[in-house]
This record gives sequence, structure tokens and C-alpha cells, in this order.
Amino acid sequence: MLFPRIFVAIVLPFTGTCAVFAVYMCLVYCAMRIRRREEEAAASEMKNTSKGLQRSELDKLPVTVAGDEKDWECSVCLESIEKGQKTRVLPLCKHSFHAPCVDRWLAGNAVCPICRTSLQPPKATTAAVAPVVVLSGSDENC
Ligand SMILES: [Zn+2]
Ligand SMILES: [Zn+2]
Repeated sequence: MLFPRIFVAIVLPFTGTCAVFAVYMCLVYCAMRIRRREEEAAASEMKNTSKGLQRSELDKLPVTVAGDEKDWECSVCLESIEKGQKTRVLPLCKHSFHAPCVDRWLAGNAVCPICRTSLQPPKATTAAVAPVVVLSGSDENC
């Protein structure tokens, strides 16, 4: 009766260890899968709600040429906006800046540099936000 006792003494702990190891590997695998899924979800969320505006979205913002009607200052570069310089007017809050300055800012932050008004329309109510900026073209009346 020596053999079965040795068998029990060796095989049982071995299979027990194997079982524990298998469960452990299973848990590690599950944890890795969950973490990867979370990372993918976070990455796609970041892509969807990326903080800055895309080039195509920037191009939709109206660009005007500054006149000499008032003393403007670009809040991005803190220099005055001279007559003839291209400015971009934010459609919701009507703040205006040098176009290159605010483009650089908006590429990283989709909010007005002055009042923090978001330039990304809320996804549920995109239809409610209509651009009301009318550009007065100079060559309409020939
Ligand atoms: Zn500027
Ligand atoms: Zn603003």
C-alpha cells in the first residue's frame, strides 16, 4: 500500500497547485482584458471629446478683417488688433482674436480664451445651435 500513499502525497498537491495556478492565470487574464477594455474606452472617449477643435471645425468659424472702428486687443497674444488683420469671431460669445492666435488656442482648447464658452455644441441639441453670424461681403453690390 506504499504506492497509493505516494501517489496521493505527490499527485494531490500537484493537482491542487495546478488548479490554483489555473485560477490565478484566469484571474490575471480577466483583469488584463478588463483593463485593456477600459483603456480602449478611455482612448475612444478622448478621441470623441478631444479637447481641441479639428481643422474642419476651425474653418467653419467666421473670419473677418479688422477695421479701425475700435481699440481691440487679442487676448491670446495680448497685442492690439490692427486694421486689416484677419480676426476670428467666436460665434456664441462674439469675442474676437487674431485668427492665427485663436486657431492655435482652439486646436488645444475648444473654449473661448476669455469667457470659456464652449465651442463644441452639446451633442443632443446640435439642431438648436444655429450660427447667426452674417458676414457682410464687400462685393455683393457691384
Ligand atoms: Zn493675437
Ligand atoms: Zn468669449
